[in-house]
Amino acid sequence: MGIESSCDETGVGIVRWVGDGTLELMADAVASSVDEHARFGGVVPEIASRAHLEAMVPTMRRALDEAGIEKPDAVCVTIGPGLAGALLVGVAAAKAYAAAWNVPFFAINHLAGHVAVDTLEHGPMPPCVALLVSGGHTHLLHVEHLGKPIVELGTTVDDAAGEAFDKVARLLGLGYPGGPEVDRLARQGDPSAVVFPRGMTGPRDARHDFSFSGLKTAVARFVEAKEREGEPVPVADVAAGFQEAVADVLTMKAVRAAQDLGVDTLVLGGGATANSRLRALAEERCTAAGITLRVPRPKLCTDNGVMIASLGAHLIAAGAQPSSLGAATDPGLSVSVSQVVA
Ligand code: ATP
Ligand code: MG
Ligand code: FE
Repeated sequence: MGIESSCDETGVGIVRWVGDGTLELMADAVASSVDEHARFGGVVPEIASRAHLEAMVPTMRRALDEAGIEKPDAVCVTIGPGLAGALLVGVAAAKAYAAAWNVPFFAINHLAGHVAVDTLEHGPMPPCVALLVSGGHTHLLHVEHLGKPIVELGTTVDDAAGEAFDKVARLLGLGYPGGPEVDRLARQGDPSAVVFPRGMTGPRDARHDFSFSGLKTAVARFVEAKEREGEPVPVADVAAGFQEAVADVLTMKAVRAAQDLGVDTLVLGGGATANSRLRALAEERCTAAGITLRVPRPKLCTDNGVMIASLGAHLIAAGAQPSSLGAATDPGLSVSVSQVVA
């Protein structure tokens, strides 16, 4: 079982091994507080924590019913990274359930979970580069094996990719979350009508880092200039141009990282992988470079308990020792530190 509460989704997922190293999904219960954050234009930590408190027990009930079990063999939980108060709710619940059921407890790294969940759909994972893009994260990772420490190749130096979508949507007067709105509007726009800057794409950026705040500022300046001149803002073209810039940078750097490392598989994860242009461009560039692209179905890309259960299953199979019930949440946990925290 995996319990997830690092951001605005309360998730309880259950998986099991069936024969030849295949993982099977038994339950995927998720409750999201995304609507409660909408009027603030972003996740409000206190609201998220309270929503987790209310949703945890009913979500657990649903997962157990869905799987048709009374208790799992092990309880895994996201210990970090994430919102401090939100993490506390899931971790406290996981410890209580593990103690009450008398089963081992595993404190799991959320980011590694986003990678591991892909094995549920596409089977055993070869050495790969993973690109994680969500409201809170933008990471390029090198994963040799799910039982081994993950190497962080790069991350964002400012805004996360999904966050940039949310901020640009706000500038354009669209709703929250902004990603789906920008994606929808961009279909009606011309991606080359307004060309926005691609941050940190120069040959000297050896680490595979990202920057999206300059792009966001460029969109803001463009909109301001139009308004000052009393001209209408071509919102569809701006959405398309912005989305093109994000998709271009993400896919270019992911493919470059895979080529640098001599790896022939790219895995995508995180809620912003729902973006249609990102998916299409990743597909196109991976095909051109002879790289196999693996993208889990959208429901598994956003935060959920199944990803934590999946990683837990791999770590347990690789011989990981259970964590202490005294393990503390770590809001800033790095992906390269460890996948299971003692
Ligand atoms: P975390 O960062 O901890 O994974 P999160 O709640 O911020 O959690 P997700 O729930 O995985 O992230 O994803 C939500 C983010 O994905 C939001 O920023 C949203 O705007 C973005 N997003 C969703 N759909 C799309 C889309 N079609 N195009 C671009 N961005 C999208
Ligand atoms: Mg979310
Ligand atoms: Fe996440």
